[in-house]
Amino acid sequence: MRTAIVTGGTGGIGLAVCRQLLADGFHVTALFGGDQEAARRCRDELGITTLQCDVTKMAECARVVEQVHLTVGPVDTLVNNAGICRDAPFHKLLEGDWEKVIATNLDGLFNMTRQVWDSMRERGFGRVINISSINGLKGQFGQANYTAAKAGVIGFTKSLALEGARKGITANVVAPGYIDTPMLAALKPETLAMITDQIPVGRLGSPEDVARCVSFLASQNADFITGETLNVNGGQYLG
Ligand code: NDP
Repeated sequence: MRTAIVTGGTGGIGLAVCRQLLADGFHVTALFGGDQEAARRCRDELGITTLQCDVTKMAECARVVEQVHLTVGPVDTLVNNAGICRDAPFHKLLEGDWEKVIATNLDGLFNMTRQVWDSMRERGFGRVINISSINGLKGQFGQANYTAAKAGVIGFTKSLALEGARKGITANVVAPGYIDTPMLAALKPETLAMITDQIPVGRLGSPEDVARCVSFLASQNADFITGETLNVNGGQYLG
């Protein structure tokens, strides 16, 4: 059985990814940052293990991956989905909000991927799927920290793809547009309405729209695809 870890697996997109991979026949473990209630809901709905793990902490990432390795087996699919935003125009952007966003959205990928990479190389198989963002491609007012991290995700993934290619490991990015999850809760309704107007298909994305793309990239159907960025944005940005 294929074994997957999904970081931020109890959040809006992450939960849908866990649900989809489970339906695809994977053994799935969801990691979460600290929201115990969301973790409980995830366990209740999907019956999967949830483990608390701050992806900004290397030691915690090592601990949970080791736990999955010992109890389930080697991880062949890693979905780096945990992410946060702390928006402010650059002239007001606080050092702490720069650091926190880079640490979660970019350092987290290093911390997690480093834990599974050697074993994927040894076994000659692996799938790393990293969640970036439309705004990592096009930039966004008030998101210098977030867009820097999400653009970094794409460069990181391309390098992984080159290094993993001869070892049977693919690394790809899914770059969602605006997806209807708690992450958008910070936006004012009028801002959200304005954004929706800019989406050619005329609606926000759903977590399932993203989850199906992750599922595809994790599957054998995507064996020959690596270093690619799959945009899931309803036509809002044709990068
Ligand atoms: P949610 O806020 O719903 O979920 C975020 C998840 O990340 C939660 O499970 C949260 O866990 C986890 N998380 C946050 N910080 C940490 C941390 N330090 N360590 C471990 N886990 C952490 O957001 P979405 O589902 O919307 O976002 C998922 C991904 O998709 C993110 O990378 C986001 O940037 C990206 N994305 C989202 C878009 C959208 O429109 N929603 C658009 C483009 C990209 P907990 O709550 O327990 O802390």
